[in-house]
Amino acid sequence: MTRSQELFERAKRVIPGGVNSPVRAFGSIGGSPRMIRNADGAYMTDEDGNTYLDFVNSWGPMILGHNHPAIREAVIKACENGLSFGAATALEVEMAELICREIPNIDMIRMVNSGTEAVMSAIRAARGYTRRDKIVKFTGCYHGHSDALLVQAGSGVMTAGIPDSAGVPAGCTKDTLSAVYNDTASVERLFEAFPQEIAAVIVEPVGANMGVVSPKPGFLERLRALCTRYGAVLIFDEVITGFRLGFAGAQGYFGVDADLVTYGKIIGAGMPVGAYGGKRQIMECVAPSGPVYQAGTLSGNPVAMTAGLSQLSLLKDQPDIYTKLNETGTWFFTQVESIVRESDIPAQVSFCGSLGCIFFTDTPVTNYETAKTSDTAMYAKYFTYMLDHHIYLAPAQFEAMFLSAAHTQEELAGVLDVMRGFFLK
Ligand SMILES: *Cc1c(COP(=O)(O)O)cnc(C)c1O
Repeated sequence: MTRSQELFERAKRVIPGGVNSPVRAFGSIGGSPRMIRNADGAYMTDEDGNTYLDFVNSWGPMILGHNHPAIREAVIKACENGLSFGAATALEVEMAELICREIPNIDMIRMVNSGTEAVMSAIRAARGYTRRDKIVKFTGCYHGHSDALLVQAGSGVMTAGIPDSAGVPAGCTKDTLSAVYNDTASVERLFEAFPQEIAAVIVEPVGANMGVVSPKPGFLERLRALCTRYGAVLIFDEVITGFRLGFAGAQGYFGVDADLVTYGKIIGAGMPVGAYGGKRQIMECVAPSGPVYQAGTLSGNPVAMTAGLSQLSLLKDQPDIYTKLNETGTWFFTQVESIVRESDIPAQVSFCGSLGCIFFTDTPVTNYETAKTSDTAMYAKYFTYMLDHHIYLAPAQFEAMFLSAAHTQEELAGVLDVMRGFFLK
């Protein structure tokens, strides 16, 4: 038995499924999860001393690679000042000022502790502002694990084969309406049916929790127009795309304005941080300036803010980092595409900037239904092959591959060679 296996056996006795988040359990690909001891740059090392080139990057936060020296040093220094005060700090002001200054449509922002909390709070703010109850989400889009949003939520729920979670009372999801990603007519029908009742439309501007699914040209623009026409709040869930497609996230990348934006992952550089922000008139509804209650004992935690602010400052100060990341992504995934095209294994490569994935299907993927045609058993084989070659991918079909600035062209060329071994053998 490896040390990872030994630890996993122990974990299963005391942690549900042996993990603190379902997709880590390797449930959908079989085998036992690697217990990670440490990570540096583009690599992670497990408890048995195996090193992997990492394409999960903590599910996105480590856009500069693991254990970035400047971020690490800043965090160590911050720890010397105390871990939490439960009172306002200069760091929070700096963080909010940086984001409001650099990102269009963010007039005000509130820090929370996770992406889930950010989305849950943004929905509440949108409902409080509009005094309406219904929300529209897209099947296959994941917005965290709060009750109202666990409706055909993609990601871990998708591979687990659970359409909706147990333990969510029907009352909690009765105001959640589902639309089809990339299908504006499905949204129009909902607005026609409930013209005065929809508080918000929430969307992943690039779907990244049903595999990677890019918005068709005009899709996000049409959502913007519909929300404006019906007085609903357009929420971009940028927990993955924020500070990844560019500093201004999907709003900047696609040139579409949202009313509220949610952040997570990159904003905390690996620490538990989320945030929601947007138009002043909506954000002023949030307590204590308005009647929408939302709070957090550890929100804006000084150590977490230091990590996030250090990473965001590094990203903002080198704007060509995004040009490079997006170019590298385009080059890499185009190469993957050409390997897949030569192969007998049915597969589709889908990508946007530094996010991408391979769907094991003949069907072009544009939404949840088409993503679901993927052969997850083939993904399991592919995953295992790559892991055996020391390449760590997301242990599930319906997840993204995250490139970081720490992946060199040379390393990526090596990955392509390994992929050739799988697809062209
Ligand atoms: C990860 C994710 C969330 C949830 O964030 P957590 O920090 O895991 O709670 C919400 N929305 C999207 C788009 C995500 O990818």
